[in-house]
Amino acid sequence: MKTVHIIGAGLAGSEAAFQLAKRGYDVHLFEQKPIKKHPAFKTDNFGELICSNSLRSNDIHNAVGLLKEEMRQLDSLIMEAADKTKVEAGSSLAVDRELFSQDITEKISSFPNVHIHYEEVKDIDINIPSIICAGPLCEGALSGAINKLCGKDYLYFYDAIAPIVEKDSIDFSSAYYKSRYDEEGSGDYINCPLNKEEFEIFHREVVNAKKIELHDMDDEVYFEGCMPFEEMARRGYKTLLFGPMKPVGLEHDGQRPFAVVQLRKDNAIDTLYNIVGFQTHLTFGEQLRVLKLIPALKNVSIVRYGVMHRNTYINSPRVLNAYYQMINYPNIFVAGQISGVEGYVESAASGLYAALNMMQYLDKGNIEKSLKADTMMGAMAAYISDEHIEKLVPMNANFGIFKSEYQGGKKEKRNYYVEQSLKNIREYKESLCEYNHEKNLD
Ligand SMILES: Cc1cc2nc3c(=O)[nH]c(=O)nc-3n(C[C@H](O)[C@H](O)[C@H](O)COP(=O)(O)OP(=O)(O)OC[C@H]3O[C@@H](n4cnc5c(N)ncnc54)[C@H](O)[C@@H]3O)c2cc1C
Repeated sequence: MKTVHIIGAGLAGSEAAFQLAKRGYDVHLFEQKPIKKHPAFKTDNFGELICSNSLRSNDIHNAVGLLKEEMRQLDSLIMEAADKTKVEAGSSLAVDRELFSQDITEKISSFPNVHIHYEEVKDIDINIPSIICAGPLCEGALSGAINKLCGKDYLYFYDAIAPIVEKDSIDFSSAYYKSRYDEEGSGDYINCPLNKEEFEIFHREVVNAKKIELHDMDDEVYFEGCMPFEEMARRGYKTLLFGPMKPVGLEHDGQRPFAVVQLRKDNAIDTLYNIVGFQTHLTFGEQLRVLKLIPALKNVSIVRYGVMHRNTYINSPRVLNAYYQMINYPNIFVAGQISGVEGYVESAASGLYAALNMMQYLDKGNIEKSLKADTMMGAMAAYISDEHIEKLVPMNANFGIFKSEYQGGKKEKRNYYVEQSLKNIREYKESLCEYNHEKNLD
């Protein structure tokens, strides 16, 4: 029987353990609770939800809703537990958190081929096929060991993220392409100019906008010199004009705008842009409200809101391939929030896909059957391993990272994406059937 080690029995680790266990692999699951428990965790169960009890939208025309459906098609443990323990929450899927994680714990524990080790893992043996799923609160010896494997300080401890927006939602009647002093590739930056009056309104609204309350852990980001743009605005009228909204070198048609918000290309398929220097602590509603005051962003669609908080994750584009496998250590896979995906469902989905890839790697030494970026699960794996991204920003499921040539209105496009993705998932599932036959589990 082939053996896999899984480190961490959170959402990703539990899903990965289930996928491998049900196909007959020998799974050693390492979980440090209850011996060592981060204060954010309240129970000793597997698959614990540490904050909200909502797994967000259940509508398949929404990106995270589609991701859920893909997972259901691939027999996800986390989705089964969620559907079984759901509570009323409109079009969202919310769960009774106790029953949810109890169900996951019982299911995993019932497999005779899952060996549970309640201990803190401090090192990683690169000779043992392993999936690291230690989550965003990973720290201490294990984070040191992961950092060593990643090399070059590619393990980060904080998110200081500016909003990322869909290019389709930018109004190009008032935006233009140009890099500062035309020094770098001019197609990589989109500039959104403001005149004096527009800037004054923007500045006033930012200064008065509502912030998310700071926690102790977040203070460190601030003092590391990564200042939220609303804080710069509070320091004075001119601070933004000498900072991220500086117009110098961004002249257009011979004119220098009063202020400019610059957007930098965020993905290779050129559908997402991040707002340069706009890391923020504003509430999500306020981020949308103030950004809409910028003329070129009046219809902006934000796929990833800005945040500044504790979050351990690796710079996957330099470390992982699109199978969640380490480029330099093929025995080692990394899944869950620590791999650079963002959110409960996304973490579980990455655990599921990493396990299906590990399974092929164990059996054949390579991964022949994979998902492309025209499924939500494949799109996330492609995004976190996109070599064009210099420093990864952890990413939620969203249609901006979905790869498809389809041209058409937003609604038609989404219908097409859903159809395309579910068809691809069905084909992928059929292509994996041999693994179930081999293990006699059909
Ligand atoms: C404070 C906070 C709040 C969040 N709130 C939300 C939210 O409301 N909604 C949302 O969608 N996402 C949220 N997230 C993001 C993310 O979706 C969750 O953190 C999610 O639980 C990640 O799943 P995971 O499997 O990657 O990690 P986890 O669920 O954190 O699982 C990791 C497991 O690994 C274990 N472990 C860690 N180190 C070791 C070790 N050395 N040895 C053995 N075991 C170890 C841990 O005990 C834990 O059980 C939040 C993140 C944080 C930090």
